[in-house]
Amino acid sequence: MPANILLVEDEPAIQELIAFNLTQAGHHVLRASTAEAALTLVRNALPDLVLLDWMLPGASGVDIAKRLRSDERTKHVPIIMLTARSDEQDKITGLESGADDYITKPFSPRELLARIKAVLRRRAPQMTDDAVEVQGLKLDPVTHRVTGNGGTIDLGPTEFRLLHFFMTHPERVHSRSQLLDQVWGDHVFVEERTVDVHIRRLRSSLESTGHDALIQTVRGTGYRFSTQQ
Ligand code: CA
Repeated sequence: MPANILLVEDEPAIQELIAFNLTQAGHHVLRASTAEAALTLVRNALPDLVLLDWMLPGASGVDIAKRLRSDERTKHVPIIMLTARSDEQDKITGLESGADDYITKPFSPRELLARIKAVLRRRAPQMTDDAVEVQGLKLDPVTHRVTGNGGTIDLGPTEFRLLHFFMTHPERVHSRSQLLDQVWGDHVFVEERTVDVHIRRLRSSLESTGHDALIQTVRGTGYRFSTQQ
């Protein structure tokens, strides 16, 4: 379950140590030492998860969490707060600011990785390796296989990620720019009509088993994966 993790930590030694452990575990790490640098990175590409130090020079981790939660584009990004404070009131403040979890320094790499996994499982099910099935359409992230009523369906890598995202976020409308962020990982350098091209390919691959009807166009808004007609 490799994830793109944005690590916001101003203490160089701690930043280095955490980045090392995350990289060892197979994650891709982007680093920032200030709120400003962190927000710039988030503008360029949406990370799968943000590890946020509470105490930073300038804007605090709590401020960053609030900013991310108040913006439509970033409000669903999973956030784990890192802090030296173990006070119960601080914990409440951290969680109220929009963090999904809270971890008190010092922590073991193992504990951190376990928390990351738990938050991703809860907030970003497409990041996990759990197989998903909807009406006979099965997708297994481990074997990278998709089957429709038992028969193999061949998908390109982008169509695979797109279908995985749809199946783990059913019955919701996703705009093209949300899909670019979630599936392509970038909303800046890819044109929105690229989404339509891949949706077309995905539908055509699902046609033989009739599962193409699960991918619905919502006029003027985007796309939805739904079992309701
Ligand atoms: Ca700090």
